[in-house]
This record gives sequence, structure tokens and C-alpha cells, in this order.
Amino acid sequence: MPDTVCPRCGCALEESKSGTKYICTNDDCTFLVKKADFQGEEKPWTVRLCDDQSLWCQEAFETYPSIIAHEYWRLYELLQQGQPYGALFQLKDLLEVLLKFPVLAVASGILANKYPSDLEKKILSIS
Ligand SMILES: [Zn+2]
Repeated sequence: MPDTVCPRCGCALEESKSGTKYICTNDDCTFLVKKADFQGEEKPWTVRLCDDQSLWCQEAFETYPSIIAHEYWRLYELLQQGQPYGALFQLKDLLEVLLKFPVLAVASGILANKYPSDLEKKILSIS
């Protein structure tokens, strides 16, 4: 048996009784694969997600406003580290920043305007 670890949880794999499959030794994990289909040490799905560069906007890491770039990078980093639950919460934080940042920027612009239009007043509910 090759030195294998479970791609889902990182625990050791053991051969099934029939000797045709690998089964994760972690009782909380259900990973099971035919020996013929297993290519040795596989990367967790979260890492494979990071490896596919077509899914990521590299430009965002370096050129987007820092508050957005940071949250986006942290999402990438958590997936790279194989932490899907942390990544889920990080995704929430990223979406929150993506929504709040533009709204606050527009509100700030309106508030800085000495003579806001009626529409701008209506948007901020000021008179
Ligand atoms: Zn496992």
C-alpha cells in the first residue's frame, strides 16, 4: 500500500477487507475509493479549487482596494490550507465588504456635496 492520506480530512487510509478499496480511518469521514482509481496522494478539493487559476481574479489580489483584496486573499488562503468551514465564513465577509464598500463610498460622496440633488437627498433620507 502506498503512503496515502485521505484527500478530504488528511487522516490515514487503510485497505478494505477485500483489498480492492482504500477507506479513511477517520470515523467521521466517509472517504472511500477503488484502489485502481486512486492516484496516490490526492490534493483536497479546496486546494484543487485554488490551483485552477481560471477561477480566480489574480488582479484583485494586488490592485483592488486593500479592504477587498485582503478579504479575497484570505478566502484563497483558507481554501489553500484546506479549511472549507473557515472559507465559508470568509466568503460571507468578502461579500459583505463587496456590498458595503461601494455603498459607503457613494454615501460619503453625497454627504461631502454641499448641494446634493433631490435624488441624492432621497437616497440618504436627508432633507
Ligand atoms: Zn478522511
